Formats: sequence, C-alpha cells, structure tokens
Amino acid sequence: MVGYKRKGELNEVKSVVAGIRKNTFNRPEEIKLSKNLQALQEEIKQMFEKEINDIEYLKKLERVRTEFLANVSHELRTPIFAIQGYIETLLDGAIDDKNVNKNFLDKANQHTINLSNLLSDLIDISMIESGEMRMSYRYFDINEYISQIIQEMTTMAKEKNIELVYHPAKAGLQLFGDKSKLKQVFTNLITNAIKYTEHGKVEVLVEEEQKYAKIIIRDTGIGISQEDIARIFERFYRVDKARSRAVGGTGLGLAIVKHIVEAHNSKIEVKSEPGVGSEFSFRLKK
Ligand code: ADP
Repeated sequence: MVGYKRKGELNEVKSVVAGIRKNTFNRPEEIKLSKNLQALQEEIKQMFEKEINDIEYLKKLERVRTEFLANVSHELRTPIFAIQGYIETLLDGAIDDKNVNKNFLDKANQHTINLSNLLSDLIDISMIESGEMRMSYRYFDINEYISQIIQEMTTMAKEKNIELVYHPAKAGLQLFGDKSKLKQVFTNLITNAIKYTEHGKVEVLVEEEQKYAKIIIRDTGIGISQEDIARIFERFYRVDKARSRAVGGTGLGLAIVKHIVEAHNSKIEVKSEPGVGSEFSFRLKK
C-alpha cells in the first residue's frame, strides 16, 4: 500500500517538474501537489519564482544593453555625420568662400572635440560598469586639493564671465577618498555648473560635519526641473540635447560622477530651481 502511495507522489512531482521544463506554468500558484507534499510544493514554488525573477532580470539587462548600444551608435553618428558634412561642403567649393570656410572648420573641429570627449567618457563608464575601476583611498588635504582644481578651471569660467569661488574648510582638514577619481567628480560638476550658467557665479564649499564633510558645488545657472532631476544621472540623458552638444557635453558626465561618489559609500544629492540655479553635493569621510 505504502509503495503505491509513494509511487503516486513521485509521479505527481515528476509531472510538476516536467511542467516547469515545458513552460506550462505561468505563475507559482499554478504549481499544486497533494496535501502531504505541501513542504515540497512550497520549495518548488520558490524555486520557480526565483527562476522567473532571474529570467526577468536577464531580459532587462539585455534590453538595457541593446538600448545602450543604440544610444552609443546614435551619439557616435551625430558628430561623424556633421564632420563629414562640413568637409564635403568645403571640398565642394566652400573652401574658397572666405565668409564661411573658417566657420565650417571651427564647427568640424568642435565636433571632433565632442567625439573625443564621448570616447573618453565611454571608456570610463565601461571600466566602471564592468567592475574594473580600482579605487585607491587615502587621507588628503581637501583645501589644497580643491584650490588646485579651481585654479585649473578658472580660465574656463573667465571665458564665460563667471566668477568661480572656493569657500575653504578649516585649514588642514583631511578627507578620505580616491584623489584621482574624485578629480573627475569635481571637474565634471564644476564644468557642468559653468556650462549651464549664463550669469553669476559658481561656488565650491566644504561644510564640516561631525564625521563627514559635505562638498557643495553651487551655481546661479539655468536650473533643472524636478522631473529632469530624476533622470539626469541616466546615461545619455540631457535636458536639452542641442545645448549639451553645443557646449561639448556627452550626457555621460553625471552617470560617471554618480558611480564614483557611490564607490565612496556616499550619495550625490541635487537641489535646483529652474531659472535660479543648482546645487550638487556629496559627503566624504573625515
Ligand atoms: P552633459 O555632458 O550633457 O553635460 P551630464 O551627464 O553631465 O551630461 O549632465 C546631464 C544633463 O543634466 C545635462 O545635459 C544638463 O541638461 C543637466 N545638468 C547637469 N548639470 C547641470 C547644472 N549645473 N545646471 C543645469 N543643468 C545641468
């Protein structure tokens, strides 16, 4: 008698497993075994649920990858087509037209700069996302460090008539981080602040807290709406594509910033008001 019962149960399990293999179940609730196999039924349901979630996750990754590739191709095509267009027009005779020849060369040149920015950002993002970003943390003097960066970026600000100011922390304050990766964070945030500001100033502040120091990059620029704030850290997202390209943007800068800040166990925060200005901030350990 017992043998018969066992056989029946084994057949039940066999048919459920075969069902999973042949994709006959859509949801875990559809998996049913008899009363004395409830524990096993729960186990199988959970395995099935995990399987569905794993497949969903892989499908999502595949979609993200395809979308990224489509974006990269599009982003590469834009400057290449533009350069091609200017060169062809010049070759077709515009080279002898003093009214346009220099202007076309300047434009072609701007697109080659965009192309080169895009390639270096792409290399960075793929290194970061494939987990190849090696971090090297140590303590460093934050005032010295930021002053140096500000000095390097003053020309860019001056060209736009924007004041670039640093409000230092107390002398000798040491913060913990990867100096070379953080350089990219500062450069990207200050470059953006300058790029998206027409009048006024860009300020960098270090506010000391108990265990951390808050680094703030504040501008009096065009600002960002609440809906856009939710998306600006996505790869290739720009509020205004044409404007970003015109100033040499790649749409990858903030995605890179976010990765690096998060590698420091910190979070990048944004406050902004359209027409008034923006403030990006993150914390570093003291
Ligand atoms: P981009 O290379 O286009 O500047 P980012 O990833 O650095 O790309 O930024 C994404 C978008 O966020 C920008 O295109 C711009 O629309 C917006 N943005 C970034 N920083 C600022 C800022 N300081 N003020 C206003 N808009 C900004």
